[in-house]
Amino acid sequence: MSSFPSSVEVLVVGAGPTGLTLANCLQRHGVDYLTVDLNEKAVDTSRALAVQWRTQEIFRDLGLIDEARAAGRHIQGIRVVINGKETLKGTLPEVSAHYGRPLVLCQSETERLLIENLTRLGGGDRIRRPVEVLSLTPTDEGVTVTLRDLQAGPEAPTHTMTTRYVVGCDGARSFVRKSLDIPFEGKTIPGEFVVADCLLRWEVPSHDDCTRFKAICAGGGVLFCVPMFAKAEEAEAEVEEVTAPEQVTETPPAPPAPAPEAKDEEEKAEEPQAETTEGAKEGAEEQKGEAVPEAETKEGTPEGEKAEGAAEEEKKEGEAVAKTEEEKEEVKPHLWRIITTVPVGKEGPSKTSPSKEEVEEIIKKRVPSAELVDMPWSARYSINKRAAHLYYKDKRIFLAGDAAHVHPPLFGQGMNTGIQDAYNLGWKLAFVLKGGAPTQLLDTYEAERFPIDCQTVRRTSRGFPGIFKGGIASRFLLGTVVPIVWTRPALTDRLAGFISQTQQAYPADKGVIGPAAVHHAIVPGSRVPNASLDVLDLQEVEGKTEAVKTRDTPVSVHELLSGPHHTLMLLVAMESAPEHAAPKSWTNWIPGCGEPRRTTEEGWLPDVSQKLSSLACEMTCKLGKAGETFSGVRVVVVVRGAADTLGNACEAIKNAIEKCCTEGSGCVAPEVLYCDDSSHDLLDLYKIHMWPGKKAGGAFLMIRPDGVLSHIGYASDSYATKKLRDYVEKYLIPKKEEPPKPQEETKEETAPEQPPAAAAEQPTAEDVKEVVTEEVKKEEALGETEEEKEEGEGEGEAVTAAPAEGETEQKEEATPEEGKKEGKGEEK
Ligand SMILES: Cc1cc2nc3c(=O)[nH]c(=O)nc-3n(C[C@H](O)[C@H](O)[C@H](O)COP(=O)(O)OP(=O)(O)OC[C@H]3O[C@@H](n4cnc5c(N)ncnc54)[C@H](O)[C@@H]3O)c2cc1C
Repeated sequence: MSSFPSSVEVLVVGAGPTGLTLANCLQRHGVDYLTVDLNEKAVDTSRALAVQWRTQEIFRDLGLIDEARAAGRHIQGIRVVINGKETLKGTLPEVSAHYGRPLVLCQSETERLLIENLTRLGGGDRIRRPVEVLSLTPTDEGVTVTLRDLQAGPEAPTHTMTTRYVVGCDGARSFVRKSLDIPFEGKTIPGEFVVADCLLRWEVPSHDDCTRFKAICAGGGVLFCVPMFAKAEEAEAEVEEVTAPEQVTETPPAPPAPAPEAKDEEEKAEEPQAETTEGAKEGAEEQKGEAVPEAETKEGTPEGEKAEGAAEEEKKEGEAVAKTEEEKEEVKPHLWRIITTVPVGKEGPSKTSPSKEEVEEIIKKRVPSAELVDMPWSARYSINKRAAHLYYKDKRIFLAGDAAHVHPPLFGQGMNTGIQDAYNLGWKLAFVLKGGAPTQLLDTYEAERFPIDCQTVRRTSRGFPGIFKGGIASRFLLGTVVPIVWTRPALTDRLAGFISQTQQAYPADKGVIGPAAVHHAIVPGSRVPNASLDVLDLQEVEGKTEAVKTRDTPVSVHELLSGPHHTLMLLVAMESAPEHAAPKSWTNWIPGCGEPRRTTEEGWLPDVSQKLSSLACEMTCKLGKAGETFSGVRVVVVVRGAADTLGNACEAIKNAIEKCCTEGSGCVAPEVLYCDDSSHDLLDLYKIHMWPGKKAGGAFLMIRPDGVLSHIGYASDSYATKKLRDYVEKYLIPKKEEPPKPQEETKEETAPEQPPAAAAEQPTAEDVKEVVTEEVKKEEALGETEEEKEEGEGEGEAVTAAPAEGETEQKEEATPEEGKKEGKGEEK
């Protein structure tokens, strides 16, 4: 008897980081789904290392951030060495003090943690492997899928399953994408990538380097080195320069200046150094058994010869920079991921993993003094820049992760982008399947993620081949451009915002993302930054309501957002913002305009409270309470003001909510969490300028289950409020039976003052070509050589991915016919 159900609501194809994240999201929303994977077990190699800030936030929401931080290590800084000379030694900006800096965690660990978390959530039996998906046939009701349980053997009988939705998270060579002929526009970047996990002994300060990302330009090439694991105590010794004051709140990106020492508790956790090294040895044993033919290297090229000539000099220079008294004593080996490119040989791309000798030779050219002690894993792969639309025709089949976009590994975006795709799609599928929300909600997956995925492909491809060449372009980029960027906070912020994936903003589209209704404030569509708040308890003292702090430590906003619910934040200002929080605009030059506003207005509080409360009641009636229904909303009241005014504000809201729910809709009053923003943390960070009074004394924020701000507005702004109501009615709850239309259509209220954020058009199929191909061509015209252009044009190679040992069978070159097919007409 088959172990497959005859039908599920969602079939997730592929249990890599993307598929597992989606499984976690669907599981916690209570969706009926199944995840199948071709491989017998999850990956056991390191592959993607960088867990970016935004992904760490997602891990917190899903409930696995503590394990992830315990298993990984935050990378602290960057070091650039050009021909033996250190041109930059900097600290990575802390985009969020909560999440520190990027976390280095092997993909095998990431997948393990996602699987463990899924099991904790009760979905351990919802991953089936090894299972092959043989066919997908879209029908009116969904998709008919044919599967084979490979555990029962390759000739085992097939099984037919029906499902309402299929999500292809099956990697760069996606069966789902190919079987439906979904075009994968873009091209292969010339050259071969060599990645290897190397146990290296360096003639540089090990305690310093083991938390720094390094770019070494020498010997006719560039070697990027990512520290993988280091002993915690060694990392601690390094912190003089690489720290920031301990704080709960997210800091707006700051210039990378040295700060007084402070260290996150989690970062002090003991590193499993012994285990890693052991793992490394095991891997090395495996490696020895494999016959790995030598691949062509750059040896013998003029570039290579020059570099060798300079090697001795570089070595001396390098040692002069690096050595200190203590380092001379003993240099311990550390595990590093090295990343570099090698030219493709005459015979075409090599099909084998790089041997230890080849990697040793590459390293010696760049860092003559380094000793390769062991090499647990290595891979060679070609790089593509390609993107596909994220859905198939009638939106029954979606793509996510590498199945939809592949790009160079610059900035460690690949896995993180896939995780974000899944996080965006998961809650939307749940609302449609469980709550009967209109399927238009699913359209927003493509509208929101596709432009960002294309942007990631573009940005990671820009100047990419040039960086690795080790020539004048690399030296200019690494030796001049990077240090300039590093000393310009505005540029560093932008770069950190992109790399961390925290500054991505979804476009306002058909109302699912509301208008930017509060000047200068956080824009709807962006992820909500973390801030800290004091939780308040309302107590009756002598007939008066007093708000008393209940915890010594503040609660973080992300803690409150954690879970599958929407969050409605109601903000009340009992005092004006401090002067420094006044929004910056040209009007500040007009005397008096930039100053905090005061009010003598009477009776504004009940008015504002009533408006905010009716919103809270309505949202709770429509969506349910958080924790009680999968689609519930959590109401959080945030008050800012002097201690003796907090009680007044909280009481006003409380009374208004009770009145509204009992007298108005008759719904049960929402449970409300009252918080104090006395440090002005939240309002400053979100740049919401408020002051007592009817106009700006109250505001609201609606935050989606994926932590994205959907709507913002002042309580008095009926346009912004209406947009929020529309969002809930049009996208989140089942459509009501249409009553017969009245003769005259009711006119929408017009936007006061600020226009809504420009609505992004649904990208068309042509956009894929334009964005991925045309834009990239422009960039290449700047950054690529003739040779590269030739090689890239007309290429039909299907995908990236790393044909590591055991992965070689995946490497596949598309026939010219396939190449043509991929390039042919789009579907919509
Ligand atoms: C060698 C190597 C090194 C890398 N290094 C980095 C890095 O340093 N940083 C970074 O960000 N990214 C890196 N990447 C890319 C990163 O690994 C991917 O972006 C990430 O794994 C994408 O996750 P995914 O879940 O979308 O796809 P994958 O991880 O590829 O997972 C796809 C899953 O689908 C399964 N599958 C495939 N076909 C089928 C089918 N027909 N039926 C059922 N299941 C199927 C596969 O078995 C696999 O488990 C690297 C990739 C490779 C190969």
